[in-house]
Amino acid sequence: MAQPTKIVLSEADAPTHWYNINADLPTFGIDLPSVRHPMTKENITPDDLGALFPPALIEQEMSTEREIEIPERVQEVYRLWRPTPLYRARAWEKALDTPAKIYYKYEGVSPTGSHKPNTAVPQAYYNAEAGTKRITTETGAGQWGSALSFACQMFDVACDVYMVRVSYEQKPYRRILMETWDATVTPSPSDTTDAGRRVLERTPETTGSLGIAISEAVERAASEDTTRYALGSVLNHVLLHQTVIGQETIKQLELFGADYPDVVVGCTGGGSNFGGFAFPFLGDNPHEQPRSRFVAVEPKATPTLTRGRYTYDYGDTAGLTPLVKMHTLGHDFVPPPIHSGGLRYHGMSPQISALVEAGIIEARSAGQLAIFKSNQQFARAEGILPAPEAGHAVWGAEQEALAAKEAGEPRTIVFNLCGHGNFDLSAYDDYMNGRLEDYEMDDREMDAALEAVPAVE
Ligand SMILES: *Cc1c(COP(=O)(O)O)cnc(C)c1O
Repeated sequence: MAQPTKIVLSEADAPTHWYNINADLPTFGIDLPSVRHPMTKENITPDDLGALFPPALIEQEMSTEREIEIPERVQEVYRLWRPTPLYRARAWEKALDTPAKIYYKYEGVSPTGSHKPNTAVPQAYYNAEAGTKRITTETGAGQWGSALSFACQMFDVACDVYMVRVSYEQKPYRRILMETWDATVTPSPSDTTDAGRRVLERTPETTGSLGIAISEAVERAASEDTTRYALGSVLNHVLLHQTVIGQETIKQLELFGADYPDVVVGCTGGGSNFGGFAFPFLGDNPHEQPRSRFVAVEPKATPTLTRGRYTYDYGDTAGLTPLVKMHTLGHDFVPPPIHSGGLRYHGMSPQISALVEAGIIEARSAGQLAIFKSNQQFARAEGILPAPEAGHAVWGAEQEALAAKEAGEPRTIVFNLCGHGNFDLSAYDDYMNGRLEDYEMDDREMDAALEAVPAVE
């Protein structure tokens, strides 16, 4: 029989549990720093978080259980698109003329075209269970907003999305998708919150940022009784929900008869698709001497892991969210308007940050011109058009494939293609017509943004 192009698991082989890396972090010598209250800077308590999140998610955020069962209702909704396929990129290998074997997990088959529903669905489910009537959230390019809008529909919860203004104005299609799923979408900053009004007073022409939109959504949830808030990345429980990706991939590589991966590659905005993909491999590797390398790729325009500072900072611009220790560019950093909207964020998952700090995960950065070049070559070989965010993983895998060629070694590379780019055609149009430019932060801009980082003992 011909070599398979993809491995598709049956529904019966879908994971029934999420993998919680917090149970294993001590074996990597990591003691995750405590989360602090935004005002008192003391350790946060479950009660402090109760206004924003339902009890089950707070419990997951703090859990050290290795496996957490996926509720049957959540598994049922997952089955609309999960398990997702794992491909061998034979045509792309040939185009790159590499001896490497490249595999990619494809999360673009979800209803919204990315990995985000993997966490939106359980978040909406636990909220519905806890009596939440409305969930507020923020969205950049609209990936997270559409995932949560879809998930809220599944469980009959209302959904209010604050969408970063530049995307709201320039990228109407995801807004329309959210509205199709009955969400209310407001461009941020807006005059519906104190946080939004304050920013508008100071900078009426602002194009917005994720940090500002988070402040608006959090303020609404904190001030309304049956309204809670949901975050699409960064937090432990979000990365936990995404671990279905890596668990499926491990099984699929076995069915392919693949060698154990030499390198595991993903892109990082807040760290959720990378964590969900890589953590099950990390748990699976011998911790004293991992058999795989782990490579996280981010934009040069928002170089959180490669140039940010590892320190306590807020998740939002107004300083309403808890303080977490993470790599940050400073909470009032407004990223340049690159096309990878989902990666334009100042912070990072504390779990990923700690693993980078410990030298277990490597971080790299790339400019958007290089990203789109790789993506176009990938699309011409494999057919799928990567989301610009996911394209950072494509670029990272390409670098590894070229390094394998250089070394003359048939290395095994696996990466997460976390979303398709079918809503990002204007970005591809800009690229193909020479309208795309690279941004790189200079040291002065970086230092200025980092000045606002609070001091925490
Ligand atoms: C949101 C998004 C990202 C960035 O978020 P992570 O939490 O780092 O995964 C990356 N890729 C796609 C397709 C996204 O929608």
